[in-house]
Amino acid sequence: MNDLLIRNARVAARGPEPCDVRITGGRIAAIGADLPAAAAELDAAGGMLTPSFVELHCHLDATLTAGTPRPNRSGTLWEGIALWSEIKPTLDEDSVYRRARKTLLWMLSHGVTHVRTHVDICDPSLVALRALLRLRADLRGTLDLQLVAFPQEGFYAYADGEALMLESIALGVDCLGGIPHFEITREDGVRSVERILSLAREHQRRVDIHCDETDDDQSRFVEVMAARTLREGLEGRVTASHLTASHGYHGAYAGKLIGYMRRAGLHVVTNPLDNSVLQGRFDGYPMRRGHARIKEMLQAGLNVACGHDSVMDPWYPMGDGDPLKAAFVLMHYAQLIGADERPWLFRMLTGMPAAAFGLERHAVVEGAPADLILWDVPTEDEALRRLPARRAVLRNGTIVAERSAVGMSVLGEPLDTTPPV
Ligand SMILES: [Zn+2]
Repeated sequence: MNDLLIRNARVAARGPEPCDVRITGGRIAAIGADLPAAAAELDAAGGMLTPSFVELHCHLDATLTAGTPRPNRSGTLWEGIALWSEIKPTLDEDSVYRRARKTLLWMLSHGVTHVRTHVDICDPSLVALRALLRLRADLRGTLDLQLVAFPQEGFYAYADGEALMLESIALGVDCLGGIPHFEITREDGVRSVERILSLAREHQRRVDIHCDETDDDQSRFVEVMAARTLREGLEGRVTASHLTASHGYHGAYAGKLIGYMRRAGLHVVTNPLDNSVLQGRFDGYPMRRGHARIKEMLQAGLNVACGHDSVMDPWYPMGDGDPLKAAFVLMHYAQLIGADERPWLFRMLTGMPAAAFGLERHAVVEGAPADLILWDVPTEDEALRRLPARRAVLRNGTIVAERSAVGMSVLGEPLDTTPPV
């Protein structure tokens, strides 16, 4: 791996003065003023250098299927579920691989170097999982994938949910998923969380459960996750995704719950793009928007990530895989607009998801892996205001995506931003 010196870059933790960053052997070797010359140099011209993005929540098995076999006319969760169940039997390994790879290249162009994706395992042939296992192996070291075995139709509500989970573990998934609010009874939901977390301990996997993704304020499975995480000794290895029901909780209950979530070391992912359009559908006016209690969770010291979730699938026909756009929406939606609050947004795309992913030292500091984004803009605020194309993306010190006068190139090829027809 070649050495690289990035001159005149702004590094948020070091204040407004530009500095030089030397990269050696894939790591950040030195940060300082006027570092000695290197064979390869890049002038940042005052642009910001940040850690790369870690995308903690997406669904690469369904990505780029929007419009097939027909559009979601109502835009609802239920029409999306009906469409996905029509698409699922038609999936083949190569098409899943190609669609997922295309979306991952879009993500890489935006500075994403690590991705956790859920994969629907309610399919006896596990076609999508096999495709994504192959893709995980092919991209390792360039864009690292974590696969979550996700029983989309229920761990117990789907006839072979548990058997398919065990098969997915044997095939090598990284994380175990679940969907307790979708099980037939409250009791089944509780049982599913308990079984999934005990399997995670037994097989030494991380956990990421779609939890309480509903407007029903009686949906209270995160408390079960917290209790079981403590009992199984899985602190720091368990993520709760969505949590939109928390928006409707009474303050007294939310306060108790957040305290136990913190004690259990639960990570949280909020997905503002999908949930803003999928939730609130049973409300009259005023109409809620599906949303977890992000500000309270951040203030309580929870580790909270912002996910992109869908990219052009039956549930959300928009999206290009840019986490910055999700954070831009979250800034408005969670009212993270105060001068002391806006800095949360970049952390929710970098260090916080990195902690849930299990990465160490995902920051612009000496000794850390050189997984970086170079920007033309000088500050995080300017990036959030203008949502600019990234100037360059580095993985282990190698430039994997860069912008030129003719557009973006990724892994040395021009980026194709058009979706499949
Ligand atoms: Zn999801």
